[in-house]
This record gives sequence, C-alpha cells and structure tokens, in this order.
Amino acid sequence: MDPLEIVALTTGQVRIHDDMHRGRGPGLVRRARILRKGPMGEPLPIHAWLIVHPSEGRILVDTGETQAAKDTSFAEFHVAREDELDHQLRAVAGIAPEQVDRVVLTHVHGDHADGVPHVAHAPLLASAREIAVVGSLAAAATRRFTGQPLPEPFAPRPLPLDGPAVGAFRSSTPLTADGRVIAVPTPGHTPGHLAILVVQPDHHVLISGDACYDLAQLQDLQVDGVSPKESVAKDTMKRILAHAAGHPTVVLPSHDPDSARRLASTEVLRPRPAGAVG
Ligand SMILES: [Zn+2]
Repeated sequence: MDPLEIVALTTGQVRIHDDMHRGRGPGLVRRARILRKGPMGEPLPIHAWLIVHPSEGRILVDTGETQAAKDTSFAEFHVAREDELDHQLRAVAGIAPEQVDRVVLTHVHGDHADGVPHVAHAPLLASAREIAVVGSLAAAATRRFTGQPLPEPFAPRPLPLDGPAVGAFRSSTPLTADGRVIAVPTPGHTPGHLAILVVQPDHHVLISGDACYDLAQLQDLQVDGVSPKESVAKDTMKRILAHAAGHPTVVLPSHDPDSARRLASTEVLRPRPAGAVG
C-alpha cells in the first residue's frame, strides 16, 4: 500500500503562559495559575492537518485559529488573515477549501475550531463526549469568561469512539473503510479530546492535538495547566508512549515547533534512555 499524504498547515502562532504549557501545583491551583498574568513562552505554531485518502477524499484534522482570536491571560495570538485555513489550504495544500470532504476536531478550543466557517460545507465531526461537554452551561460560561465564543455555524456530528481497541488505545472509530484513518480517545486536555491515528505502510502517525504540547512534556508525563483531571491526562500520555513503544509512531502535537519536521522526516518517537530527564 502507498502511504497516505499528510499535509501540515500552520494557521499562525500562539504564545502560551508557562504555567499552561507545564502545569504546576495540584488540582484547582494548577488550573487557576493560568488566569493570572505570568511569563509567556516562545511563539508556537497552530497546526491543522490535511489527510489525503485515495478513495475517501480529503480529511481535515482541526481548522486552526483566525485573526479574530482575542488574547487571554494564558494565550497571545499572532494570526494574520493570510494565516487562516482557507489561505493555508490554497498555498500549502494546493486546494480550495471547498475541496475538503470531512473535518474532524481533536477538541473544541478556539485555536482548533475557529476556522470551521472556512469549511462550513463539509461534515464536521467531534467526539460525542466533547460535543456533550461543549453543550453544557459550565462550558458556555467559560467561553463567555475567556471571550472565546464557538464558531458559527457549529453543528458537529458525534463520533462514538466505541469501536475496538487499537494498540494502546482502549477504543476507536474508524473514519475510512480500510481502517487507515482512525479516531481514538485521548481525554485529558478536554474530557472528549481525540487523536487521529494514520496507518502508514511501516509506521503510524498520531495527530495528537493538545494531549501534550511537545514530546519532552509527554515523556515527563507532565500535565498542562488546562486539563480538568490530572489522572486522566496522565493516563492518556502513558497510552501514547505505550502505543509508540509497541509500534513505530510519529507523534504530532498541534503546537510543537518540531511536528512538521518530524512528519516530513518520518521521525518516530524513541523511548527516552533510562535516567535521562527532560
Ligand atoms: Zn491548542
């Protein structure tokens, strides 16, 4: 079988609060820290990904940010109009936005979902759990507080993620009939977060959203400042590491400055040597 083409799109950059990148302190303390002004890290890419399947068309994973994004205490956005998804699809993937056949969101945060109106014609998918949480009153209140409204239109269809285990992931929903593009649950950063596993001839590619911001954080099992439950986020990070230990896997976090290079050079995740620290 031929490898599936995966295209890295970059819809601008974001600087995030150091305490959001690597959470500090227990429970609510960890999450409250990001509401206070504090040091911001270096600019990080805001990636979306296009998977080109020979018979099932173009599957877009996440839709990136738009120039309308408002800065918060925990994130400072640098997105020009030409960074947005429609320009990126034309310039980098060589297609019009209308040529996207399906859209899957890893999770419903603005820097992953705000580009949805650019591909409003295409069926939109997210995990059933994520859609339920996003529809709650608490989530609506948080969006008002942070000034991050849902995109319009926004009517995702639920992915149940109730199919068989795949590698280290406890369940799945295949997105293609040949099972080469698979949604797997990676809860933590949000309760219904998912990742997309792409089965290539001799390795896997895991489009891992914000399950971690970079591989050092993954290998440190250090939870971010956003995840509601530390234990859930940590369990997902352990599963990603276990999956990569069992099958050569290129892991692509949405905001890792090395993700695009790693995709281009098929750099699989190597276990950290014993005793090494991040
Ligand atoms: Zn993000």
